[in-house]
This record gives sequence, C-alpha cells and structure tokens, in this order.
Amino acid sequence: MSEKKISVAIDGPSGAGKSTVAKALAKRFHLVYVDTGAIYRTVGLAAQRADVSSKDAEAIIALLPGLLIDIAYDAEGTQRMLLNGEDVSDEIRTPKSSIYASDVSAIPAVRAFLMDMQRGMAERYSVVMDGRDIGTVVLPKADLKIFLTASAEERARRRYIELQQRGSVATFAEVLRDIEYRDLQDSTRAAAPLKPAEDAVFIDSSHLSFEESVEAAAKLVREKLGE
Ligand code: C5P
Repeated sequence: MSEKKISVAIDGPSGAGKSTVAKALAKRFHLVYVDTGAIYRTVGLAAQRADVSSKDAEAIIALLPGLLIDIAYDAEGTQRMLLNGEDVSDEIRTPKSSIYASDVSAIPAVRAFLMDMQRGMAERYSVVMDGRDIGTVVLPKADLKIFLTASAEERARRRYIELQQRGSVATFAEVLRDIEYRDLQDSTRAAAPLKPAEDAVFIDSSHLSFEESVEAAAKLVREKLGE
C-alpha cells in the first residue's frame, strides 16, 4: 500500500465500465474497492423481499430502521454485501434488482441512510469508490475524480454480452431500454443526480478497450501519487 492515504472517485452512467476499471485500479495501487451501487441494490432487494413497490417511498423509508447492511471482503478481496447477516451479493445482480436500485436510490432518505457507511470506508482506508455521486456528494474532497462514460448503445452492448454469459435471456432491446431508463432517472432525479463534478476528469470509453480505459485511469492515479 502506498504511504499516502488517497481516495479516488469514479462516477458515470450504468455500464460505462466503472467497476472493471475500479477493480483494476484497486489491485494495482492497493486500494480498497467500494462498489456503492451494490449498497443501493441491497436496499432495493430488501424492498423486493418485503413486497414493497420500488416507487412507494413511504413504505421503503419505513423499512430502513430494520435493515442491517454491511460490506465485507472475501479472501480474494472481492466486496460482498450482507443484508441482515445474509450474503446477497449474487441476488442483487438481476435486471429487476437494477431497476429497484435505481428507484430506491432516488429517495433522499435512502441516500442519507447510506451516507455514513460510504464516508466511513473512505475515512478508514485508501479507496477507489464508484457510483453516481461520489465526486459530487459523498467524497467532494476526493484526491482524484474520474467521470467514466460511453454511449448508451455501447454500454448496452457490453451489458448484453455480460448477461448472455450469465445465461440471461434478456434481449438487446430490453437491455438498452433498462440502460436508458436508468440514465434518465439517475440524471434527472432531484437527490444527488448523476453529473460530473466540476473538477472531474472525463474518460469516454466508447472506443477504448478495457485495458485502454484502465491505463487512462491508472495514469491519472500515478500523477496524483506523484509516481
Ligand atoms: O452501479 P450500479 O448499476 O450497480 O447501481 C445501481 C443503481 O444504484 C444505479 O442505477 C443508481 O440509480 C444507483 N446508485 C446511486 N448512487 C450511487 C451508486 C448507485 O444512485 N452512488
């Protein structure tokens, strides 16, 4: 681990490659990777399990005091999400969970409920944290802010391939529709909308390979670390 404690924020729309880039940076620079989308997904799952509509803000807010959400790391350093002690890391990855996560994350009380957990991670560790509002709201003083983006079609194409590999039967049109739904909702909501921080550095990954995106981000981290 580098001597200096640093925090790297990576924001951007769904499917831009934030988690793959963040994981690669975490490994290369010995940072703790915090996937904040997984935290919202866990609240969404709790709502699904309680049979509450993702649009019913009042009912979702009523669930919050009963939720114990924890982040754990397995032996390989992979983030696991615990909901009341149960590992729900796989269950939060379904297309329905994506929509639920986007819906519950628009509720200001949900965002406030999860704030301390996210900031606490950055206080304890050198982190690379990805999400939608990390550079703007959660860690406004992050050492480096990256806004990673790509066209909606390219992001849908990548997500479609990933889902197919996992045996999903979703069509490309459905995946694109999901991405467009989340883009619109995430960027137009009143509470912490998706937008680049003023001091964010843009990386457009539409025409970059995975390695090229990682290299572009790693170059920025090295500059920050003075390496
Ligand atoms: O990143 P991921 O796609 O897993 O996030 C799921 C949803 O959680 C997003 O569509 C977004 O609405 C929400 N989210 C958020 N703020 C974050 C991370 C995710 O609102 N920091």
